[in-house]
Amino acid sequence: MNAPVVIVGTGLAGYNLAREFRKLDSETPLLLITADDGRSYSKPMLSTGFGKNKDADGLSMASPGAMAEQLNAQVRTHTRISGIDPGHKQLWIGDEAVPYRDLILAWGAQTVQVTVEGDAQDAIYPINDLEDYARFRTAAAGKRRVLILGAGLIGCEFANDLIAGGYDVDLVAPCEQVMPTLLHPAAAAAVQTALEGIGARLHLGPVLTRLQHSADGVEAHLSDGSVIRCDVVVSAIGLRPRTDLAAAAGIRVNRGIEVDRLLKTSHANIFALGDCAQVEGLSLLYVMPLMSCARALAKTLAGNPTAVSYGAMPITVKTPVCPLVVSPVPPGYEGVWSVEGSGPDIKAVCRDADGKLLGYALTGEAVREKLALNKELPALLA
Ligand SMILES: Cc1cc2nc3c(=O)[nH]c(=O)nc-3n(C[C@H](O)[C@H](O)[C@H](O)COP(=O)(O)OP(=O)(O)OC[C@H]3O[C@@H](n4cnc5c(N)ncnc54)[C@H](O)[C@@H]3O)c2cc1C
Repeated sequence: MNAPVVIVGTGLAGYNLAREFRKLDSETPLLLITADDGRSYSKPMLSTGFGKNKDADGLSMASPGAMAEQLNAQVRTHTRISGIDPGHKQLWIGDEAVPYRDLILAWGAQTVQVTVEGDAQDAIYPINDLEDYARFRTAAAGKRRVLILGAGLIGCEFANDLIAGGYDVDLVAPCEQVMPTLLHPAAAAAVQTALEGIGARLHLGPVLTRLQHSADGVEAHLSDGSVIRCDVVVSAIGLRPRTDLAAAAGIRVNRGIEVDRLLKTSHANIFALGDCAQVEGLSLLYVMPLMSCARALAKTLAGNPTAVSYGAMPITVKTPVCPLVVSPVPPGYEGVWSVEGSGPDIKAVCRDADGKLLGYALTGEAVREKLALNKELPALLA
């Protein structure tokens, strides 16, 4: 039998690639391997689940069996690949060798682990997939106070969502503003004010130094000497593309697995997309880029080599208390920011010396201007 096309990972990258591939090739054997339970779900929904009162089953869109049928594919769940042997075009699952025609790495990013002193490490929950979300919902059931670590996009979305779901929220992050790598300070201030307006307590500056079980929950000790009492802790301090297994196989990695615009790694017949991939130097851990990659790579795998291109890719942040759309200035560009508006309605735009728009952050009523601005934005990969 012909060796299959093997996709490692059944997140949005893996399943969308499989769908796109099947539109072009219904015959080639296709095998998907995933370390998790293989349910199809939309990861961005994880940070809207409490407000919508949806548990993990409610967010799941299809079982692995239904996906296998829909894709005319084999889906192996709870199966972790442990190595890649590019020379023999096979991968390893423990001591089982699995041959591939083409191998696609869509194994995502892992959460950065929090290490603090104290006996309450077990109260910390990262939420980066449906199983994490289920574990956190179980831990938070019947509790009231949640401490969120991290003020990035995911930390802020969880703050808004958990408050919508009836929780008391404290948020701690060692930075001066929310979403420091994404937002102009004026837009960040609008988001912070809005979150505080619905009751979030933001502690920006100090770090968590110690987490200790106490008689009525958990005590979080911060570097400024303050103590926060909570029941559970959500860790949202960052994601790191998974690169270890690729690097061990001699595949070139940087921040992510390096691929060219054909999504090809440094090794023949091995490709990568999604959170684990760094495409022409760009490591973008969002849905829009992976969808573009899935469409292009499907064509390549079906025999029509196709380079991926990225248009502008603005991000809609799910903080309904402060509508927010942001298009960060691409790496390597420099410009000058100008800010209009006040209070919750901020329009911050960054233009280069010739007046060309490089990026923006829009909050509140100013979000209405996104369509007009999007037309002016430069493509990320033309
Ligand atoms: C809470 C949250 C909210 C978000 N909101 C947005 C948003 O609003 N907009 C947006 O654009 N982006 C958002 N993102 C980011 C977006 O969801 C991700 O970029 C995207 O889902 C990544 O998909 P992926 O398939 O690359 O990775 P994942 O979904 O992480 O999938 C990785 C897969 O690989 C498997 N795997 C890992 N290691 C192995 C192994 N060794 N062997 C076998 N299988 C393995 C895993 O089990 C999993 O199936 C959000 C992310 C989070 C966490």
